[in-house]
Amino acid sequence: MDNKTKLLKALPKVDECIGLLIGLLKSNSELSVPSRILKTAVQSSIKKEREKILRGDDACREMSFDEWMTIFQNEISVKLTPHFRRVINGTGVVIHTNLGRSILSEKTTDNLVQAGGYYSNLEFSLETGKRGSRYSLVEDIICELTGAEAALVVNNNAAAVFIALNTLANNKEVIVSRGQLVEIGGSFRIPDIMTKSGATLKEVGATNRTHLYDYERAITEETALLLRVHTSNFRIIGFTSEVSAEEMVKLAQDNDLATMEDLGSGSLIDLSQFGFPKEPTVQQIVEAGVDVVTFSGDKLLGGPQAGIIVGKKDVIAEIKRNPLNRVLRIDKFTLSSLESVLREYFDLTLALKNIPTLSMLTITSEELKKRAQKIQRRLKKRIETQCEIRIVPTVSRVGGGALPEFGIDSWAIDFGPSNMKLSIFENRLRKLPIPLIGRIENDRFLIDVRTVQDREINDLVSLLIDFFGSCSEGDGEGRA
Ligand SMILES: *Cc1c(COP(=O)(O)O)cnc(C)c1O
Repeated sequence: MDNKTKLLKALPKVDECIGLLIGLLKSNSELSVPSRILKTAVQSSIKKEREKILRGDDACREMSFDEWMTIFQNEISVKLTPHFRRVINGTGVVIHTNLGRSILSEKTTDNLVQAGGYYSNLEFSLETGKRGSRYSLVEDIICELTGAEAALVVNNNAAAVFIALNTLANNKEVIVSRGQLVEIGGSFRIPDIMTKSGATLKEVGATNRTHLYDYERAITEETALLLRVHTSNFRIIGFTSEVSAEEMVKLAQDNDLATMEDLGSGSLIDLSQFGFPKEPTVQQIVEAGVDVVTFSGDKLLGGPQAGIIVGKKDVIAEIKRNPLNRVLRIDKFTLSSLESVLREYFDLTLALKNIPTLSMLTITSEELKKRAQKIQRRLKKRIETQCEIRIVPTVSRVGGGALPEFGIDSWAIDFGPSNMKLSIFENRLRKLPIPLIGRIENDRFLIDVRTVQDREINDLVSLLIDFFGSCSEGDGEGRA
């Protein structure tokens, strides 16, 4: 009998293992594992080993009963771990697209809990006792804050752009500057969305420069809309020129056309007062007279995923009547958290403090240094024999396609583990009970404290202390 056959024959039987495992779990833990999970954990562990043997993996050998039980238990704990997890963001990217973009304050998450756990007036007018509209719960607030005549909220900003184009320009032409035909990522490309919406794209100008006469010359009987798009994660620099919202509005009025602006990461606050590059606010674009303005709820606004559409009453009314509105509608979680975030904006000082995205963007470098020092102090004595910990200046990013080139001075904790390659360290921090996501830069592992919340510091500290504690008990490098 060759080695492969011998190993295959030695593989344990699924049913026997399940029986033994149930006995083991009963005897030494209060943990109750659903029998289905138990069964699939055993099956998949044995299957993986069988495949390894068939592949001729040299590491294969006959395993003891105890070894198998450990494998099963590890597999069970993997299967019992939820897929959707909270993580600690140490990347310094505030609106991190892969880590959930904007996060909500505790006050706002309380509203989510209420919306989920109780009945609500989602579509019920408490005044009349009759059916109400879900949108009326936020429309007046959005109008008040942006100065718009009317507002509508859909699933995300991509949906906002789509429904607006479909309503205003189905089977018609839309004129856009070549310099604004951007791909945002995650397959959102202006030309593709345009095609799907039924509108025909007419690109004008050159990549770096577009003039008013370019739009003017492109207007035909078929033209319905002039569109401006924020270039988001992309910047054209040097010899450039774009037509302003005011100029676009004037040209459209003279030709009886509609206008639209996709602001992407629209902000209600002028962030240039905090040293950020000047960008028009939502209010300014509304003020310029653009018919429809769209922006994301979870970028600079700092709220839940949503696409906010503001503009002229008649145009918004038309968009509301589009059957797609029902397809793209927001749920009660979005509504309740969006209202809570929007209400913060009635007092800008409070908004900057209470909306995490804004407070992370505007916190001072001195405060960040203090936060980093506080974490360093708490870690130092406990882990310094295993890991060098320094405080270093670094640069954070806004993220979410907003202000792409702009770096914000920040502070990071710089970890230099003594017995571990940085790539292994980084990998193992991602596998912690609360995964810790940092970044490797110039051969150092950094946790930028800008995106670490004060309420997360205790977790961060104990995760790292436990991590280095478990390393010193074991072999340091070996376990993955
Ligand atoms: C981000 C962005 C979008 C897409 O918004 P989502 O909220 O991600 O759907 C569309 N247009 C621009 C200019 C953007 O920056």
